[in-house]
Order: sequence, then C-alpha cells, then structure tokens
Amino acid sequence: MASGSEGTVVTRFAPSPTGFLHIGNARTGLFSWLYARHCGGKALLRIEDTDKARSTQEAIDVILDGLAWLGLEFDGHTYYQSQFEARHAEVAHELIARGAGYRCYLTQEELAARREKARAERRPFRIDSEWRERREGDWPADEPFVVRLKAPREGETVIEDLVQGRVAVKNEELDDFVLLRSDGSPTYMLAVVVDDHDMGVTHIVRGDDHLNNAFRQLAIIRAMGWPEPHYAHVPLIHGADGAKLSKRHGALGVHDYRDMGILPEALFNYLLRLGWGHGDKEEFTHEEAIAAFTLEGVGKSPARFDMKKLLNLNGHYIRAAGDRRLAELIAPKMGPQADVDLLAQAMPVLKTRARDLNELADGAAFLFETRPLALNDQAAALLDADARALLAGISERLHAEQDWTTGGLEANLKAYAEGLGLGLGKLAQPLRAALTGQTTSPGIFDVLALLGREESLARIDAQAGPA
Ligand code: GLU
Repeated sequence: MASGSEGTVVTRFAPSPTGFLHIGNARTGLFSWLYARHCGGKALLRIEDTDKARSTQEAIDVILDGLAWLGLEFDGHTYYQSQFEARHAEVAHELIARGAGYRCYLTQEELAARREKARAERRPFRIDSEWRERREGDWPADEPFVVRLKAPREGETVIEDLVQGRVAVKNEELDDFVLLRSDGSPTYMLAVVVDDHDMGVTHIVRGDDHLNNAFRQLAIIRAMGWPEPHYAHVPLIHGADGAKLSKRHGALGVHDYRDMGILPEALFNYLLRLGWGHGDKEEFTHEEAIAAFTLEGVGKSPARFDMKKLLNLNGHYIRAAGDRRLAELIAPKMGPQADVDLLAQAMPVLKTRARDLNELADGAAFLFETRPLALNDQAAALLDADARALLAGISERLHAEQDWTTGGLEANLKAYAEGLGLGLGKLAQPLRAALTGQTTSPGIFDVLALLGREESLARIDAQAGPA
C-alpha cells in the first residue's frame, strides 16, 4: 500500500457495504473528500468488506455507484479491507511480541459468569484477564484464544478533534478489547487502525458515532509506535424531529434520492451545507466547495434533514440545468414513446416549476399521450356542454390559423376571447383539458405550439361538442 509523504494530507472514506449508501455516510464521505481536495492531498476509498455475508458485489456496487453519481472520485485504487486480513493478524502478533497485546484463553462461559457477577454486584463489568501478563511459556497447547490489547489503565487519553474540540477519556474506562477473534479473524478495531496506517492516512474524517472507538484505536497506534492521525468526528444527520435519521424518517439511501428525481448537484450542495456554512453562499460548484471547505466550519451539533429544503434546492438546480440533459434524464422514466428532441424543446416551459425529475416527467407526459386522451376527474368535470361548445368555436378559428407559433396563437385566441366578451381563462381551461387531459399545464399557447398543429387540432376536435 502507498504511504502518504511528509506533509501531504491523506483522508479516507471507509464505508461498510450494508446494501445502501446512507445519506449521512455519504455526507461524511463528501467532507472527507473535500478536505483532502482542499488541502491538495489525497482522498482514498476503502470498502470495509469484512462481513462476508453482507459484502456482496451488489452491495459494494451500490456504494461505488452512489459516490460516482455524486461526483466524488477518489484517488488511486479502491482498497478492500478483506484483502489485508493476514496483515491485520501480523500486527496483532507483533503487539504480543511488543508486550502490548496478549493471548487470552478465557472461555465464553467464564466471561459470561464474570459479567453476571458484576451485574449482581452492581458494578460495571471490566475484562480483567489473568492472561494479561502471561507469556509464551504459559500458553496452553491447542486451546482457542483471542488476542486482546493490553489497554492502558492509568491516566487519560486526549483527542484534539478537529470538529469536536478536546475530548478526554479516563483510561480505566478502556477495556482490553479483542484484536483477533478465536478463529484468527481481525476485529473492526484492529483492521481500521492497520489499514489507516498502511494507507498513510493523516486525517480521519468520519461519523461521530466512531468517537469512542478513536480512543481504543489510538491505544493500538501508540502501542505500535505509529504516527497519530488527526481526527475529525462529524455529527450524524438527524431527522426533522431531532432524532437520529432512521428508516421511519423516510428515504435513507443516496439511490432513493436519485430515484425521487433529485439531481446529484442538488444533493451535493444540500449535504455540503447541512451542518457546514460559508457565509450566505447557497450554491457551490465542486471547485468552489473545494476552495471554501474547512473542517473548522463543520458544526458540532447534529444537522437536521429537511426534505422541503432539498426539494426547493433541487427545483432551483432543475431550472439551471441544460434542457437536453434534463430531457435525457426524464426520457427513460417516460416509456418508449418519449422523444428526447421534443422533450428538450419543451424543457424551457416545463422546467419552470418542477421540484424533482419525476414531477418534470409527469408534467411532460401530455406530449406523448395517444388519442383519445384519458381525462383526469377535474378535466372531465370541466368539459361540460358549454365548454365543449367553446372548443368547437376554438377549433374553427385554429383550423384557419396559419401562424402556428406561441405568439400567433396567443394573438388569435386573445382576439377571439375579446370578441366573445370572455376572459382568456375561460377559453384556456377547456383547451387545456382537451389538450392535456389535466387542469394544470404549462402556458396554453406553449402547449399548442409544442404539440403542433395536427395533434392539437385532433385533440381539440376529439372533445369538441356541437357549437
Ligand atoms: N466502516 C465504518 C462504517 O461504515 C467506518 C469506519 C471508520 O470510518 O473508521 O461505519
């Protein structure tokens, strides 16, 4: 593995494949990536795939896809933790050789009995293994054992966390945790430390649910005499009710937001500004975010996820997005009849109000309806005998119209409404119902222009009654 050269910032994002890329985890990954980029350092990606049952290729791809979709490209190759198990075990044995770790032969039954005794005596349970000071000659042959760290018992461990500030823990609270299980497999606590060291990681930016682990991990690092990384423990995302974001708050995975029709740049900006601020600036390109990002700007308290804000921001990015890109994004949602060219042409009038791509696709659906159009309930109710008679008159006028443009159609129908002594709305309502099957749509002249002469007249005539 590569080692970070002196002075170069190296961060890593270390997700475990759980079946989805959690939105909170993605934000941590974003911060870790941004910090490296801001410092001109390296942003590494490590898949923590030691749980073999969960770490399917599919679960790994979900993470890789989600990160790529968000535009987070990591440096070098992706590390897979499971490939380094032999190295993790080697370090565990090196810790024993250094007198900083030990083989512990306590059985599950013995441990359970001690735990039970502590509970009965109402005192906190601490591993106090008689194997802590035993050496090689004392080891029983052929008995299963775990390797434990000889954790420090006196004094305290202090972390100057770049987000949380100074955090201290009394060492008596750190127990002799397991490094290698009895089957020889490394624990998370050991694997993370070894990989971070071997990858040359200088700054560990991760969720604050790992802050407690940092004290234990530091104990391993110090026992090995390795350089200590800087830590930045970022608060998790909470729901609008203040509780930790969970399934009951709705969608959790980055893919869910993609499927809801959120643009990646909207999610990028939303996650960036969730618990990190830079004056009043609301929108950041990747380059601007990289230039402005600092860990000092990350708030200490959990940020609250606000779907409404995300949707508003998304609507903003939809309006800013290129018409052809939007057309290409929504066409697959619309079925085989969707025509990207027509969608792109319609986009300026369609995108003015959609807050997500699904809404945009719904709003564009009328373009590709086949006749006879299905009317929704409001449209059907609106098309009473009077309205159908109006449509007959409109049809007659429009059949004679030579200038089939938004402007030409507007002039024509305005004059017609005036002649009848009606507001334009009275004309537009049945027209909209006939042309789109709905009671809301883009401006009616735009609808006529986009559908074109032939299709417009056919739709109108299909609903027109006797004049
Ligand atoms: N794999 C851990 C997780 O997904 C992160 C480990 C770490 O960042 O140290 O929560």
